[in-house]
Amino acid sequence: MGVSEIQQSTIAESEAANTLAATDPDLWRLIQSEQHRQATTLELIASENHTSPAVMAAVGTCLTNKYAEGYPGARYYGGCQYVDGVENLARNRAKELFNCQHVNVQPHSGAQANAAVFFALLDQGDTYASLVLADGGHLSHGMKINISGKYYWPVHYPLNYDPQAKDFEQIDYDAVRKVCLEHKPKMVLCGYSAYPRVIDFRRFREIADECGALLMADVAHIAGLIAGGVHPSPFPHCHVVTTTTHKTLRGPRGGMIMTNDEALAKKIDKAVFPGIQGGPLIHVIAGKAVCFGEALKPSFKQYAKQVVKNAQALAGALMDKGYRLASGGTDNHLMLVDLRSRDENLTGAEAEKWLEAAGIIVNKNGIPQDPRPPRVTSGLRLGTPATTTRGLEQEQMVQLADWIDQVLTGKGSQSVTVDVRRQVEALCERYPLPH
Ligand SMILES: *Cc1c(COP(=O)(O)O)cnc(C)c1O
Repeated sequence: MGVSEIQQSTIAESEAANTLAATDPDLWRLIQSEQHRQATTLELIASENHTSPAVMAAVGTCLTNKYAEGYPGARYYGGCQYVDGVENLARNRAKELFNCQHVNVQPHSGAQANAAVFFALLDQGDTYASLVLADGGHLSHGMKINISGKYYWPVHYPLNYDPQAKDFEQIDYDAVRKVCLEHKPKMVLCGYSAYPRVIDFRRFREIADECGALLMADVAHIAGLIAGGVHPSPFPHCHVVTTTTHKTLRGPRGGMIMTNDEALAKKIDKAVFPGIQGGPLIHVIAGKAVCFGEALKPSFKQYAKQVVKNAQALAGALMDKGYRLASGGTDNHLMLVDLRSRDENLTGAEAEKWLEAAGIIVNKNGIPQDPRPPRVTSGLRLGTPATTTRGLEQEQMVQLADWIDQVLTGKGSQSVTVDVRRQVEALCERYPLPH
């Protein structure tokens, strides 16, 4: 063996001795259990996905050691030549992917991205307009105990609540306009957490222009569909766009802010750092770069298309079984199931618990104008990003709808649960996680 080979094998040995399994078995067991849980259950939570091993590899690197306050070329620490390259790669790929001029990839999460935009573009107490939170908005769009509701002044626009209307439970653009003309918000916010329909960004921009407001889109949920070309782009209509990177976009947990306006970009960069954050998570930014690289490949367009096809198949199969969906269906990756349509007494909380026991992971969710409180709810939010990543297609979505119905009509009965759980596991084995 040459010297360098000896060195390498010594490194390999010490790495083996230093694995997490060896150095922290308690934590390792928990991670292994979570890995097993993800591998053996079907993930229908609309905001979750399974990243590639490449994304996870990037996040688990020495980049976590580096302080890099500031931006590429203008840092407050030495030794940043390589991490500058990492952040620039992430930024450039994001610009190409979303066809925009300025990107800030440093927000630690979607909520941080939103807080930074508010901090950059609004003054304390300023008015902005967003959707009624209980009907699909996000807590960072004006919840009373969130910074967005405590330091700023949200006014809310409704969905259309007229069951006779053809856009029942969809954004009521005339009502948006009315709310905006009445309250003259400084900013109008669109983009949601539980909205199954296409957002008309152009229409929103007309309304924003008419009342002299900035238009912000929070595309946290639909970013992957936009990148994949199956949902219209918020550009050129929106002044500023925020997103997460871990939902349909299938990257690491994180946030991002985009704009085509140079003056806004300067304010936003300042608001992220030093406004609300310190050092960026360069290891996560590296994961974002991998994710954007993957999303630029043609195969991601296929993925995004299949996500929507699968959502439509699942929605159709559930409606065939007598479940009413909010707004009557879906255009994107998610749907809101009104459980009362199948069984008056069924709640979201029970349904979530029973389905989890059967290996089908969902979250309870209020449906528009839900009379039940958020911890109970009358609905489920189901999404197809994660199961599509595993390779499931329409045929399996129909099967999944059947299992869901069996569990819910079986009211959590042991025999039904065990039977479905076994079949779910068999399907999971046929469609493994990305590896
Ligand atoms: C998920 C989500 C967020 C927040 O993302 P976090 O990373 O959990 O902070 C923000 N806005 C919308 C619309 C979301 O759905």
